[in-house]
Amino acid sequence: MTRALYPGTFDPIHNGHVNIVTRAAELFDDVVIGIFAHPRLKNVLFTADERLALAKQAVAHLPNVRVATYETLTVEFARSIGADTLVRGLRAVSDFEWELQMGLTNRALASDVEMVCLMADQEWVFLSSSIVKEVAGVGGDISRMVPPFVAEALYARFAGQ
Ligand code: ADP
Repeated sequence: MTRALYPGTFDPIHNGHVNIVTRAAELFDDVVIGIFAHPRLKNVLFTADERLALAKQAVAHLPNVRVATYETLTVEFARSIGADTLVRGLRAVSDFEWELQMGLTNRALASDVEMVCLMADQEWVFLSSSIVKEVAGVGGDISRMVPPFVAEALYARFAGQ
């Protein structure tokens, strides 16, 4: 059985993430979205539980995808759930440099865990959680970037601030 871990911050999950996990779910028997939730992780808009709930709802239609939070090293979490592949998405050259650095670090820490990068879909190549938050923060239209319940959560969060 092939199990992949798709790790990230997912603050919050958006359509670019959903595209990657949908495609990964066709390549692997099952995929776990791993939401990094270390207490030292600052500058997040949503708590780990909130990010988990939004991600779960966003992938509820994908039967071989589940979502979990983790606080350890990514490769340790991968091992603990029996995943031998990490999936990441690549949008631009800038992503490549970071992913290469992370990939080599993970390889040094755990040579048995492989990393697979999927090219961002043309439709979502501009999209990041930061951009979504920037636009939502000033009341802009994010309906094409995130599922409706994520948009609601964002507007509610900014309205309360
Ligand atoms: P990070 O680990 O940098 O906090 P994110 O939570 O934003 O990352 O995203 C997790 C993964 O999804 C990363 O590999 C990131 O490159 C990828 N990703 C983010 N946005 C997109 C997008 N629009 N299209 C494809 N992949 C993406």
